[in-house]
Amino acid sequence: MPVRRIMIDVDGTLIDEKHNLFPGVENKLKIWADKYEIECRSHTGGGFAMKILKRFDLLKYFMIEMEVYLPEQDKWIKASVPQVFDKPDIIVDDNPDSILSLAGKLIPPPLEGDIKDYKWWTIGDLELFKRLKRG
Ligand SMILES: [Mg+2]
Repeated sequence: MPVRRIMIDVDGTLIDEKHNLFPGVENKLKIWADKYEIECRSHTGGGFAMKILKRFDLLKYFMIEMEVYLPEQDKWIKASVPQVFDKPDIIVDDNPDSILSLAGKLIPPPLEGDIKDYKWWTIGDLELFKRLKRG
């Protein structure tokens, strides 16, 4: 699988418990931003991640050019958009490995052994979320 996009955590990854930047972070981000799309996600929240990235002048590495739709004008524009988000609590994906690598929680398919049965789209959230496994 060729590397295309890298997700980077904040607490304990970019910064230590005293909110100091780990050595080598900026140099690595500079290299990665030239080769890949990198995104920053934190369970503490996208706003917190944004604050840390701005404090250390790292936000520039997380900007990507993309087409953005403006519904009120019904038009698309090119814009530079920060890839800084909350970490998801739940990911819906047919590939358990990608789910576990992101969130550590998995909603297993409801019919044992048949991951391609998409009937679970019709199951209520209460029942579906009861199936969450802790990673
Ligand atoms: Mg962390």
